[in-house]
Amino acid sequence: MRRRDLLAAAPLALAAQSGPARNLVLFTSDGLRWQDVFRGIDPKLMIAKAAGTAEARHLRDRYWRESPDERRKALMPEFWNRLAPLASISSEVQVTNAYKVSYPGYSEIMTGTTQDDVIRGNAPKQNPTETIFEILKRRWSLSKEQAAVFASWDAFQWMSEKTPGAITINAGYADISGSPRLDELSRMQHQIMTEDASARHDWITFEMAIEYLRLRKPRVLYIAFNETDEWAHHNRYDRYLEMTAYVDRCLGRLWDTLQSMPEYRGSTAMVITADHGRGEHLEDWTSHGASVQGAERIWLAALGANRPPVAQLANRQRDIMATCLRMVGAGQ
Ligand SMILES: [Zn+2]
Repeated sequence: MRRRDLLAAAPLALAAQSGPARNLVLFTSDGLRWQDVFRGIDPKLMIAKAAGTAEARHLRDRYWRESPDERRKALMPEFWNRLAPLASISSEVQVTNAYKVSYPGYSEIMTGTTQDDVIRGNAPKQNPTETIFEILKRRWSLSKEQAAVFASWDAFQWMSEKTPGAITINAGYADISGSPRLDELSRMQHQIMTEDASARHDWITFEMAIEYLRLRKPRVLYIAFNETDEWAHHNRYDRYLEMTAYVDRCLGRLWDTLQSMPEYRGSTAMVITADHGRGEHLEDWTSHGASVQGAERIWLAALGANRPPVAQLANRQRDIMATCLRMVGAGQ
């Protein structure tokens, strides 16, 4: 049996809802490996001081279980117990670009194309291709505030749109106003800074996005987290796992928020994925890039209104946009 069938098959209890989705919510967590999502805590890394997990007992108590199915539910209970039964899921999506770093991956997701001759890495450069946010804004005649990106990493300012100013982008240490809560979060982000001046805490990004969702009710919303990749590069599997658990709590809260609002309940497509994979082993799990074996494999989940069957999910990263467009009835 293929791994996809063994671990990833979605229950058949809930058939896809009929009719295209009215809203699209996209969520990514940078470099979050399929291995951890689908198998839970990795036995190769959890006991290794070399992976920063000196406090192995603590991790073992919280996340170790006998089977991969139990382990993934211990690490991501919201996703596996509540969202997965409503989702079509794959752990076998292939990154198509040659670089296996962030900008080329995000660009594939957002533009549906591979642009290896133009986007060669993470260097700042306006995306030369119209993104799904601009496409949906045009097709649905949306105002700028109805297509919104909230991202921890400031690179989303130029990655997420071809035409500067076309959509609402709040990325990096960017302020936003509109409510007392948004004012408070805007002030707060400058007082609880990360060590990276280009990327704020995911907590700020998420709280801002949730407040914006309630306030402006965008038809298209993208939330992009960064800290899973940061901790992995720092070789801290323990912190990476805690961020993965935080991602899981956010996914549950995002889904509950959508279901609590009549504008979104039953009419929203939610798509969750990552920009790249990482290495499989103790020596290379921290890393990704053209030479890192395994960095080309990512995971994908699609749930909510007009969910496609697993067989119709994108197999390549650049086809994720087509999956999204089909769910909202705007396929090419
Ligand atoms: Zn990275």
